[in-house]
Amino acid sequence: MLAVWVDQLLGFASGALAAIRQQEHYPDFMTWVRAEGAGFFNDDLATAQALAPILWSQTPLERLDFACEPLATPGRNEPCWCDSGRKFKQCCSQVEFPTEIPEQMMWMLSLREWKGATLKAALNSQRALPQALLEAGLIAAESGQSGRAMQILESLFDGSDWSRLPEQAEPAFEILLDIYQERGFTRKRADLLDDVLERGPIFLRGVALERLCLMHLDNDDLDSARGAFVKAQQALPDSPTLAYIEAMLLLHEGHEREAKERANFWYRRLVRQGDLDDEQLDFLAALADNPGATLADQLLSAEEDLATPLISLQALLAALPVAPKIAINTEADTGHLQYHTSAREQTLFAAWHEQFKVLVDEDIALGFRDDPWGNAVEWMSALCAHPEWLDAPQVVQDLTMALTSRFGSLPWMAPSLLAPLANRLSRWLAQARAEGEGSLRWDDADNAMLLRTGLALVVGMERGARQHSRELAEELLAIDQEDSLGLRELVLDQLLRDDRNEEALALSEQPVDDGSQILGLLMGRTLALYRLADHEAAERSLSEVIAHNRHALEMICAENPRPVMPYADGQVDPGSRAEAWQYRTLMRDQWRTTQGALDWLDAHRPKSR
Ligand SMILES: [Zn+2]
Repeated sequence: MLAVWVDQLLGFASGALAAIRQQEHYPDFMTWVRAEGAGFFNDDLATAQALAPILWSQTPLERLDFACEPLATPGRNEPCWCDSGRKFKQCCSQVEFPTEIPEQMMWMLSLREWKGATLKAALNSQRALPQALLEAGLIAAESGQSGRAMQILESLFDGSDWSRLPEQAEPAFEILLDIYQERGFTRKRADLLDDVLERGPIFLRGVALERLCLMHLDNDDLDSARGAFVKAQQALPDSPTLAYIEAMLLLHEGHEREAKERANFWYRRLVRQGDLDDEQLDFLAALADNPGATLADQLLSAEEDLATPLISLQALLAALPVAPKIAINTEADTGHLQYHTSAREQTLFAAWHEQFKVLVDEDIALGFRDDPWGNAVEWMSALCAHPEWLDAPQVVQDLTMALTSRFGSLPWMAPSLLAPLANRLSRWLAQARAEGEGSLRWDDADNAMLLRTGLALVVGMERGARQHSRELAEELLAIDQEDSLGLRELVLDQLLRDDRNEEALALSEQPVDDGSQILGLLMGRTLALYRLADHEAAERSLSEVIAHNRHALEMICAENPRPVMPYADGQVDPGSRAEAWQYRTLMRDQWRTTQGALDWLDAHRPKSR
């Protein structure tokens, strides 16, 4: 019964709104009600007439700059406000409605109708009820009108008065953040998160902190992610989302055993509290059992269309036979190693490329000229039907780069997707190594295909298969003596993460070919020396750091420095603040967790003038 009433009410309210908008004139509106109103309520004119003044009173009027024109409720013996001519007590005051009439209904319906300049002006008037903004925003998002949803929800979360936010605003807040993310509005997203964290209501702060953690993880900034997690834990000690975030964080940091232990801890703690539903409990139990596999499953189920082809691809890669040899030889004059694509490999690549369609962008380190993920279902399925395509290094290159770009930041995907491809590349590198002592230079022959694949694999496995990533990087460094891929810094970072300080020191002391200085290598050497308690050498190394980049120490010591972004093409200048920021995001956690190291750096900061 109630559902019928709600439908009738909404139908009548929509009709009423259209009628009001004709002239925004009450008597004209009532003329429409007497002519059409009964039709909405099974010929019950009394209900329509009684509702009309209430709806009128809450309708924003364009001619009043979106203010309403509320009617005063008549006294019992006064003429009724529906203009029937009878006394109020004998007319509308006798009609009872099955539910209360929501006060935001006409605003909400108006927000659904308005477009362009009118919508903008209505939102700018700041007269909309928060509940109306919330409902209209959610409806727009559900119906796929993300631009409209963004415009309306921005008005709700504009920060002018957080206290007026309805309690149920949380999903709307998440939707707005999602829209920012989809549209690439990273600045707006960061500003909104900051604003909520500083001044927003408690029930949104927790969500904001969780989001912030995930954002830092996406940017590979582990230290900031950890910081946000600690704050989230204080704001929301009993949220099951924390369990999930901590597992992700620990896996990113490479602490698999600890991830399992902590997931277990959360499971026991939250079970005891008893307010989780079955689905949440099952998820936590699975997380405690095997965090990596659970997060991988969760990702697969979130991918919807991609899930089936991705699972087939995992199966294909797991059963991949040993790669056939490729054509590598030593050039007689120079002694350098050269890989040349064979005719068969070209044919295989051509067949693959018909499906994959996107070409590698030769001008940037790891990127395509277009997004390969739009038609991923097609190329993944085709590849599963033609595993022989992977005999061609160029196909391995495309696949590796595509997988790294999408899953490289998710540690739990690396073992199943990237490790088998790394084994394939390792075999080819071993074959090259057996061919001669020369260097496999980037610019020679088709060498770049192999080296680019190597870089994508090292980067993609850095978090989820750290040891494998480092081993492959060392294989590449041994054969690419110019370090054209810049792998030395990366291997150094990994050694320091594993507390293999002597190996790290040895690596950092190999001379760089062109004599240039790299902040990461200088800092890495300094950290290794500090950990090995060679304080004199550490001090000397630190002076070199300061001479190279005078912002570095300040940037690492500060708790919350302002991010400094690289140029649009990802380049940073040696000695710049951007270089210092980049180093901080990659390695600050290692300095922080080394006893006394941050204080030691702080004491050596160059005095600002
Ligand atoms: Zn009346």
